Amino acid sequence: MVCSGCVLGSTRNSVVFGDGNESASLMFIGEGPGENEDEQGLPFVGKAGQLLTQILNAAGIDRKDVYITNIVKCRPPGNRAPLPEESAACDPILQTQILLIRPAIIVLLGSSPTKWLLKTTEGISKLRGRWFNWRGVAVMPMFHPSYLLRFADAKKQGSPKHLSWIDIQEVKRQWESVKATGELEGVRFD
Ligand code: SF4
Repeated sequence: MVCSGCVLGSTRNSVVFGDGNESASLMFIGEGPGENEDEQGLPFVGKAGQLLTQILNAAGIDRKDVYITNIVKCRPPGNRAPLPEESAACDPILQTQILLIRPAIIVLLGSSPTKWLLKTTEGISKLRGRWFNWRGVAVMPMFHPSYLLRFADAKKQGSPKHLSWIDIQEVKRQWESVKATGELEGVRFD
């Protein structure tokens, strides 16, 4: 795929479109490709991606059964956050992906996708672990795995890793419910 819809197109090596099951009822959206992703053309394959895979595995979620993408498909130089105009330029691709995949649940990984999709200025620490109704899709923000890499202890109550473990288990529980009944179970939307 060739795109020069924003300035990121002039510095990338690869357009990192997405990866996984294109009929998945569970979708993960991160911020943007990093160095490894830009090299390999796949999302979440660097250290943060490996941690995401570990978290998914620990929760009993097979990465190949879900779909994973980012709000921007080209690497922002120096791994900076995408600028609003870059997210806006890439948004038609993201919206088309969501429209085609039609997930029942979307997990937003980190602050950038959360602010972009939910159009909020609230911080990820306040929003993580809560369910939001976005155009009929159940959406949960979680910490980005690159943030979790800074912390060692997953067992310490209230630590970011521990909170993410709670969040992914809730996502898994609701994903199982969707697969079994077509609906989420007992969710209160904010
Ligand atoms: S980030 Fe999106 S809009 Fe910008 S060049 Fe890449 S694919 Fe095109």
